[in-house]
Amino acid sequence: MAFTLAPLPYANNALEPFFDAQTMEIHHDRHHNAYVTNLNAAIAGTDLDNQTIEEILANVSKASPAVRNNGGGHYNHDLFWNILAPAGKGGELSGDLKAAIEAAFGSVDEFKAQFKAAATSRFGSGWAWLIVKADGSVGITSTPNQDNPLMDIAEVKGTPILGLDVWEHAYYLKYQNKRPDYIDAFWNVVSWDAVAKRFAAAK
Ligand code: MN
Repeated sequence: MAFTLAPLPYANNALEPFFDAQTMEIHHDRHHNAYVTNLNAAIAGTDLDNQTIEEILANVSKASPAVRNNGGGHYNHDLFWNILAPAGKGGELSGDLKAAIEAAFGSVDEFKAQFKAAATSRFGSGWAWLIVKADGSVGITSTPNQDNPLMDIAEVKGTPILGLDVWEHAYYLKYQNKRPDYIDAFWNVVSWDAVAKRFAAAK
């Protein structure tokens, strides 16, 4: 059963001025689309063909590099689009999620500082994540390329509930080499409502 590319849940320009329309269009319509196309080609006719993306990622060490790269690429971008919202439309960080972040990091500011450090120091291409660990607490990790914390090969495993793409294709048109500025802009377009739902589901 082939995977499909869902449309962005908002207009290409909905995250302006933080994430620009041209980057969103290219990122979704070309990059994410290519991961879906290449994932489908990599699983066609194999026993992965009828598995969910989560099942594929959980045993990705046994799969080909194409499945690892494109399966991760599909899952990661699907999550990314859905934890973003136009500025002011994503709700506030509150409730159980805020309490879990404060318990893990001491404060929301400290969480953001540690997340930024993880996202900034990820050399080359990859992702920074807020994950729910097996014990229900939250933590920060980062992964190279299109790996993610659901993969059996991940150094730190957990359920990702917030992710930031730090590939240059995610920010170069607007931010060029200034990845830290892109990370700062990200907080303006996070949908805390969406992250809270993922947190509740993951616990
Ligand atoms: Mn990307």
